[in-house]
Amino acid sequence: MKLQLIGTGSILTARMSASALVDDKLLIDTPNGSMKAMRRAGLDPCSVDFCLITHFHADHFFDIIFLLLEQGLQQTRDRDLVLIGPAGFADRVDQLFELSYPGSWDEMEDKVRPRYVEFDPADGGECSEGGYTIRALPMQHTVPALGYHITDPAGARLGYTGDTVRCPSVDELAADTSVLLLDTSFPTGRVGHMGLDDVEGVADQWPDLHLIATHRGDDVTHSARPNIIFPADGQTFDITAQGLRADARSMPKQRGDRKTSVLGVDL
Ligand SMILES: [Zn+2]
Repeated sequence: MKLQLIGTGSILTARMSASALVDDKLLIDTPNGSMKAMRRAGLDPCSVDFCLITHFHADHFFDIIFLLLEQGLQQTRDRDLVLIGPAGFADRVDQLFELSYPGSWDEMEDKVRPRYVEFDPADGGECSEGGYTIRALPMQHTVPALGYHITDPAGARLGYTGDTVRCPSVDELAADTSVLLLDTSFPTGRVGHMGLDDVEGVADQWPDLHLIATHRGDDVTHSARPNIIFPADGQTFDITAQGLRADARSMPKQRGDRKTSVLGVDL
């Protein structure tokens, strides 16, 4: 499994908002600017066959319009584009298109061939698509949200929390994956988000698990825990059934310590 981080930041950072691409075709979240970030990284948005959305906040979702435009303006797909996310996904896409490009979705929809798999965010669920087994787990954020457990055909197991506080589903992912990407928005956890203190708690409990800290503010830069990785935008990892390949464990890239705040808004 090839894992590439399209973005690693939270809203008030110069890094792109957090999203990740698996094997150049399975995209997790479509935050603001993510299609431009893919192009800058030399990746083709038309190669995406599966798109997983954790929740409908703009910094995770709003570029869905541009993923669909990238695909519909360039090609008529010969197979479905599988869109997996919380219940209401299809309605949200209809509404966003009507707001942004009124009257254009019907024609685009025929070319893009979206097929939705929607899960109740209170329960989660499981599906198999393109050789991947994808399990959605209920997370605890300020809005209904899902995390994902992804197993590829070769048996590599990846977890992605999306935005959440530490909750039973985070531990469930940690117990059954070899690489886990976690919301690490702040030095300490706040409403709706884990902090580095929460992630270090997971690292201590599962010392053999590789944790990738993403959705980071600029004040989350390093940890004494050896199994927490602080990736840069665009960084790639190679994951096998045995776990993260040692030669793909890059050194963390440190950024500045500019302080940020969220001005009392729960994002
Ligand atoms: Zn959010």
